[in-house]
Amino acid sequence: MKKDFTPTLLDFGPVHIYVARHLGFCYGVENAIEISFRTIEKNPGKRIFLLSEMIHNPQVNAELQSRGVKFLQDTYGKELITFNELNADDIVIIPAFGTTLEIESKLNDIGIRTEKYNTTCPFVEKVWNRSEQIAKKNYTVVVHGKPKHEETRATFSHAASNTPTVVVNDMQEAITLSKFINGEKPAGQFYETFKNQYSKGFDAEKDLQRIGVVNQTTMLASDTQAIADFLKQTMIEKYNLTEADIENHFADTRDTLCYATNDNQSAAVGMLETKADFAIVIGGYNSSNTSHLVELCEEKLPTYFINSDEKILSEREILHYDFHAKQEVLTSDYLTKNIPQRILITSGASCPDALVEDVIRKLTGFFPVSRSIEEMIEKMS
Ligand code: SF4
Repeated sequence: MKKDFTPTLLDFGPVHIYVARHLGFCYGVENAIEISFRTIEKNPGKRIFLLSEMIHNPQVNAELQSRGVKFLQDTYGKELITFNELNADDIVIIPAFGTTLEIESKLNDIGIRTEKYNTTCPFVEKVWNRSEQIAKKNYTVVVHGKPKHEETRATFSHAASNTPTVVVNDMQEAITLSKFINGEKPAGQFYETFKNQYSKGFDAEKDLQRIGVVNQTTMLASDTQAIADFLKQTMIEKYNLTEADIENHFADTRDTLCYATNDNQSAAVGMLETKADFAIVIGGYNSSNTSHLVELCEEKLPTYFINSDEKILSEREILHYDFHAKQEVLTSDYLTKNIPQRILITSGASCPDALVEDVIRKLTGFFPVSRSIEEMIEKMS
């Protein structure tokens, strides 16, 4: 059945809020949070560490820290607490994005049982399984993802344990990779161009003859599709392939985005068909899936990326994150003169619903609304 991606209208009278049909928390994140809090409850007196941020949500991470949990690494894998300080009695929770085989084995060597507190999302594991399947058929894995993102580092590590692997960040890098595939660029340059993005022992002459594309689950679906189509076309042209023998050089992986990313992105696209004054996207500033929602929205209308209702400073000013410049910026007069004011709202997979409600509460507080927020929020649930 075709899914309905039209937004839900919350008609407050002078302000109309259109909430994306699918938004916020996904299975993987809910599961990870639940396991983490359960682990804290069941293990009083034990030292509990999180390998890195549980999810890209500052409130959830702060709550975990306030209950005594410590982070071992920052989002980019930089050590905050050295592994030497750990002992076999400690608990280390693996976050939803999973981790690298190297880190897992380091922890296991200390005697820490990582499998017991592993919250790796099944949709991330699905990508690892897909990589393994194509590795068995001697394809090189091309990972479309952000090279420094925890999930991509984990996927890279799992794929690289089975087959040559290279990460491409975006279409620009896929185009560069295609030049190594079709010989436009000499193989010797590959190692400098893709520095820190290819597996040990990668042979640019031999390992780019059979490839398959998998992705970080939270990339923009249309980008991954475009990159896979482009690399497939590169193979078709290089080897004169027909649809019948394409599999000799290009594995059919289809996209490996998770359902939550897909639904949240499709719902954002559905929401954007509604004419509005501006959009608000709520989520952690380092959340990949949230920034892709921002990308979709900002193509159509003024978009403010915030991580809490507190960033809406007043009816005149909003402090929001420009993820291109990687900094917060202050915008004045973000509300327009239109009545009703039409506002689109969506949130990323690591954003609790309560935050969305807080944002709606804050915005509607600036208007003489005719309906209670509770009544409207009821409609949403
Ligand atoms: S966004 Fe998808 S892959 Fe990532 S944790 Fe959520 S369900 Fe899992």
